[in-house]
Amino acid sequence: MPSLRKCKNPECGIMLDYWSRKFYCTNACKQQHYRARTTPHYHVAKNPYRKKCRNCGKSFTSKTPLAEYCTRGCKQDHYRQRKKIEAENPQPIQSTFPDESYTISNALT
Ligand SMILES: [Zn+2]
Ligand SMILES: [Zn+2]
Repeated sequence: MPSLRKCKNPECGIMLDYWSRKFYCTNACKQQHYRARTTPHYHVAKNPYRKKCRNCGKSFTSKTPLAEYCTRGCKQDHYRQRKKIEAENPQPIQSTFPDESYTISNALT
């Protein structure tokens, strides 16, 4: 009793000849199945986003496209470093109304 085999493309379902060594009825069918199998972008769990860590520059994968750091520790590290740089390089303090004070002092003289 020859066992009939089905085309491996579930969308197709064509019965292949039992003597056939092919797994798909046609090449086009094979291509179609391959394309359907390659995980689309919305299936993030199996196809995570490839990102580069903003802190250490390491590549990593994430389930969210907004991820910026490879680990939570890295994020804190980067945050701490930024704070340190800000503390070491304070922004020059600007008076709230520089133009006004200038005109007032001008008027007084
Ligand atoms: Zn087929
Ligand atoms: Zn990192």
